[in-house]
Amino acid sequence: MQAGAGAASLFADEAYTAAGVTLLDATTLLSSSGFICKVQPPTLEEVALMSEGCGVVSYLQPTADLDLIRALVQRRITAFSLDLLPRITRSQSMDVLSSQALVSGYRAVLLAAEQLPKFFPLYMTAAGTVPPAKVLVLGAGVAGLQAIATARRLGATVRAYDVRTAARTEVKSLGAAFVELELEAQEGEGGYAREQSEDFLRRQRELIGKEVAAADVVITTAAIPGRKAPVLVTEEMVAKMTLGSVIVDLAAESGGNCELSRPGETVEVGGVAIIGVKNLPSSMPLHASFLYSRNIAEFVGLVIKEGKFTPNFDDEIIVGTCVTHQGEVRHGPTRELLEGGTQ
Ligand code: NAD
Repeated sequence: MQAGAGAASLFADEAYTAAGVTLLDATTLLSSSGFICKVQPPTLEEVALMSEGCGVVSYLQPTADLDLIRALVQRRITAFSLDLLPRITRSQSMDVLSSQALVSGYRAVLLAAEQLPKFFPLYMTAAGTVPPAKVLVLGAGVAGLQAIATARRLGATVRAYDVRTAARTEVKSLGAAFVELELEAQEGEGGYAREQSEDFLRRQRELIGKEVAAADVVITTAAIPGRKAPVLVTEEMVAKMTLGSVIVDLAAESGGNCELSRPGETVEVGGVAIIGVKNLPSSMPLHASFLYSRNIAEFVGLVIKEGKFTPNFDDEIIVGTCVTHQGEVRHGPTRELLEGGTQ
């Protein structure tokens, strides 16, 4: 393992040494390993150091950097991207999107509670009654459900909306109310939402406006994998919110569910704070790393048998996550982008 790799997550080198791990510098490791595990995608410099034909797994998001894909192809590296993992029962223990969304959903509520100039819980005191904060969660997938659960634990009243009908029961089972909008469900493949038409989104925005205006806190988590996030909260809606209200946009990095959010920044518009989050799991590194490392370990168990990197291309998890292999691009959308010369 790279010396110091656990330090930022509070896992000390000594603990690894005690467990029998050899610690080396990154250059030595990259050039001498048959299989490499990373959190972030490898850089071009790192790819240049890797031995030809080796394997690498990371949170690669292949369509984001085509130069990197070209470099991986050229060096005949077998690269896997865990964000492409097919969502089947057998792959749940490897699902980094779920494990990191759990962290994000929880942290989003804490950020909102910290920013809100109000209590989350109901208080009945001699000095008066404080009503509970009203939280609206848009998108009730893994992060959204965790946000609902956390906001409920803090005593807020929670309403939530999702375009998938399956989310209704899950929202209700966490003690939140499901916002019913007169819109058709947008179920996609593998439990995901499908990409919505501009007409659908326009109608959704018309209907959701009064819910947004009534909320103290809005947490948006609506993403469409590999595509720009849909705009759910407009500037006009923000203008109708009460002074001191807070929006936490978990989709800020993929374009934003609120049209005013900026990734990594908190902007204030008309007394409303809009927190555009960026890599939220890294703000809770200990448990984010604990979960991510288990995801990676399970994946490694699948591609390495008896100490040898031997990916089985009959396995749908291997096929689904593989981006490059033996000098070819195996991921369809990335191949199309490369052939189209988009970048
Ligand atoms: P995601 O991060 O892709 O999206 C977040 C949520 O936003 C989703 O629930 C989506 O339906 C919703 N959304 C999209 N557009 C919206 C819009 N315009 N308005 C409101 N909501 C919108 O999704 P996710 O959290 O990664 O997971 C989605 C589903 O997949 C969940 O039901 C989850 O339980 C399921 N899942 C299955 C497996 C498995 O079977 N192995 C693993 C993980 C998750």
